[in-house]
Amino acid sequence: MKIILLGPPGSGKGTQARFIIEKYGISGISTGDILRDEVKNKTELGLKAKEYMDAGKLVPDDLVIKMVEERLNKEGYVLDGFPRTLSQAKSLDKILDRINDRIDYVIYIDISEEEIIKRMSGRRICKDCGSVYHLLFNPPKVDGKCDLCEGELYQRDDDKEETIRKRLKVYEEDTKPLIKYYKDKGILRRVDGSKDIEEVKNTIEDIISNI
Ligand code: ADP
Ligand code: ADP
Ligand code: ZN
Repeated sequence: MKIILLGPPGSGKGTQARFIIEKYGISGISTGDILRDEVKNKTELGLKAKEYMDAGKLVPDDLVIKMVEERLNKEGYVLDGFPRTLSQAKSLDKILDRINDRIDYVIYIDISEEEIIKRMSGRRICKDCGSVYHLLFNPPKVDGKCDLCEGELYQRDDDKEETIRKRLKVYEEDTKPLIKYYKDKGILRRVDGSKDIEEVKNTIEDIISNI
């Protein structure tokens, strides 16, 4: 099973990716999570990526493509946050062609800009395991602490109001064209992302059960 989760920042990709990974036992490739780890560990890639991320810009395609290529496998995965540009999508196609593989579905989580802002401004992340919470929509059992590992929750630097606006613009310009790209290939499936977490999860499971 090979799936791409596509959608604007804050649409719920990471949240849903974690459900899929757990339920189907496949690996998750979240470029945002990987990059945040690299930044945390101050690796060469992390140091390069940080300035782009903090500014709400995309990290250069070549760096991200390499990162993903290293992690693709035959067993199955869910890609979260990749591809994000047409050039990334085309590179992915080339890599998959070469190894005679393909993506089953691209699940597009559709949500309004107003909802996006609410989601991103209330988002909190576990500093240790990366689990995603929301102050109102998905609060932790204990204030400020991760349910799974008791790690401290923090607000991402790029989830501040001005950076959110910038990231939305980048999404409109660079990522939105991917909807048509995958629709034309016949593998796009749209999901109404404004529904609550459980309902979105059920809809995605219905789609996946066809694979
Ligand atoms: P969100 O899902 O909220 O948009 P992510 O965690 O996916 O955020 O990404 C955070 C940041 O990491 C992005 O704003 C961008 O700077 C960088 N990033 C993540 N994935 C990619 C990608 N595929 N291409 C380029 N940059 C990326
Ligand atoms: P993405 O990976 O697309 O940027 P996240 O999964 O990080 O999105 O979700 C963004 C924020 O919205 C998080 O705080 C998360 O807890 C919350 N969230 C995710 N899905 C829903 C939903 N269906 N309804 C309400 N809040 C949600
Ligand atoms: Zn945790």
